[in-house]
Amino acid sequence: MKKLFIDYDRFLNVPDDGIRCSYKMHPENNGIISLREEIAFLFACRRCEDYPCVNSCPTGALKREEGIIKRSNVICISCKTCSLACPFGTILQELIPRIVSRCDVCIGRLKEGEQPLCVKTCTNGALGYIEEEEIKDRTDIYTIGDHIIVRVFNWLHTYGIKK
Ligand code: SF4
Ligand code: SF4
Repeated sequence: MKKLFIDYDRFLNVPDDGIRCSYKMHPENNGIISLREEIAFLFACRRCEDYPCVNSCPTGALKREEGIIKRSNVICISCKTCSLACPFGTILQELIPRIVSRCDVCIGRLKEGEQPLCVKTCTNGALGYIEEEEIKDRTDIYTIGDHIIVRVFNWLHTYGIKK
């Protein structure tokens, strides 16, 4: 089964308006932004002891669930305060939009041989739609759910950071 492959470091250098999304529910949807936010909180976040992002949020939109930051799209007002408070640059300002986007990995909409629109429109090879076996170099490879593979520098593993 093919999966969406994301090379996160390359992905950070893709212009935000460069990747298109074919999610059907609303035309402004930018599903890739939601994936970037999820990857950032899973792998780039350093799990600060005092969680300045959570404490800085004026609306209480951020919380920790088993050490992982979650943002409530309903409560968040996209003020970017958490982005300024984070000492590690984990929360890029474009990752906390007011308008909610979703990614369904184009499940059910792709015909044989097709690729998700984000993969087709990504200009620097950060995204792929591949069989997992095609990845020869397993360095920094992680899976998210059943349909996403990401290559990302994992701060927690590398520096022994506990959740
Ligand atoms: S952008 Fe959202 S999550 Fe971040 S501080 Fe503002 S309201 Fe809270
Ligand atoms: S401030 Fe940044 S690095 Fe620290 S817990 Fe929040 S998102 Fe993670």
